[in-house]
Amino acid sequence: MIRVNENYKKLKSSYLFADIAKRVEQYQQENPDKNIIRLGIGDVTKALPDACIKAFHAGVDEMANDKSFRGYGPEQGYAFLREKIARYDFQARGADISADEIFVSDGAKCDTGNFQELFASDIKVAIPDPVYPVYLDTNIMAGRTGDFADGRYQGLVYLDSTKENNFLPDLPDASCDLIYLCFPNNPTGATITKAVLEKWVTYARENQALILFDAAYEAFIRDDSLPRSIYEIKGADEVAVEFRSFSKTAGFTGTRCAYTVVPRACMIFDETGEKTGLHALWNRRHSTKFNGVSYPVQRAAEAVYSEEGAVQTKALVSYYLKNADLIRHTMDDLGFDCVGGENSPYIWVDGNGRDSWAFFDMLLSKAGVVCTPGAGFGLCGGDYIRISAFNSRENIEAAMIRIKEALK
Ligand code: PLP
Repeated sequence: MIRVNENYKKLKSSYLFADIAKRVEQYQQENPDKNIIRLGIGDVTKALPDACIKAFHAGVDEMANDKSFRGYGPEQGYAFLREKIARYDFQARGADISADEIFVSDGAKCDTGNFQELFASDIKVAIPDPVYPVYLDTNIMAGRTGDFADGRYQGLVYLDSTKENNFLPDLPDASCDLIYLCFPNNPTGATITKAVLEKWVTYARENQALILFDAAYEAFIRDDSLPRSIYEIKGADEVAVEFRSFSKTAGFTGTRCAYTVVPRACMIFDETGEKTGLHALWNRRHSTKFNGVSYPVQRAAEAVYSEEGAVQTKALVSYYLKNADLIRHTMDDLGFDCVGGENSPYIWVDGNGRDSWAFFDMLLSKAGVVCTPGAGFGLCGGDYIRISAFNSRENIEAAMIRIKEALK
């Protein structure tokens, strides 16, 4: 008898986006002439940088000729891309990461979701709240949680990010084996300083733990004092894996290219306490289950590191950051406590006593603006909404005028 993985039954259906869609559709039916502005999505809206498009086209043209055609490439990614990543994203910032520690993939979603496969099912996992849901759901699927009770899964350690701790979770009391961190954060937009990140690295080193550090929004960091990579912290290469993506950095959400850094120095332990190299394990997993990102896409990603590509991607991110600044200032001026919107495309807004769905409904009904209710990201998001800066300047400006008028 073919039987189901019972762990899947523990998953909470993702009602969030279905619920949002239903409420938006109803509003549109009742207000057929209203142009709804969607600031709920975490997807980019602007075209790929010109340098990427040119390299993408050239890559496609190479595939049209027998002499330059490429079939399967290395599963870990072409050397031309891995070398640029190592040099510009890490070595240039004093982080000693080499090209063969980079694994190119088709997305940070897959990598952050798949990485937990390497670990035993009875490890203690620490997950932020609110959270990018992939970390949570993939651990549920793998059977690392008990039942869902009072808004939380038993067996997990939740790292609360609240106003009281400035949206930087405290170190867990219990000893945890696997820790997910995401900075700049989705959904809160909070950033982490070197001093605080150092504490996490020390915790991991003292507890033989591993940090999975999601830096998908690294390109939005403009404050030079903030770390862009966990490997800027001494000793992190022995206890941390880092995920990066070209999705938000260069508009690749539909093009698909990302990478994961697994330093050779990073060790985990077998049941006898013997050390095992994480790099070899991930290499085995990646090359068994993944067949590489397409050649033209890797050429397009490589162009991010060219002189013109760097200027264009910076301009692209600056465009969204200006949107974020407009949103942040509007919500601040209206008397809402906010975090994010600086060094991040997301603004996390306290509803001043409203719950997140009430706030969502108010912005939709009074302003025709869609946001994301924080409750969808965890228990700690219940009183917040997330507003995304990924939209056109015109739409952001129009949305802010509407919100101001609605809340007058
Ligand atoms: N990590 C975080 C925190 C994200 O918010 C997202 C996308 O929204 C991803 C990873 C996924 O990135 P990718 O498009 O590379 O799969």
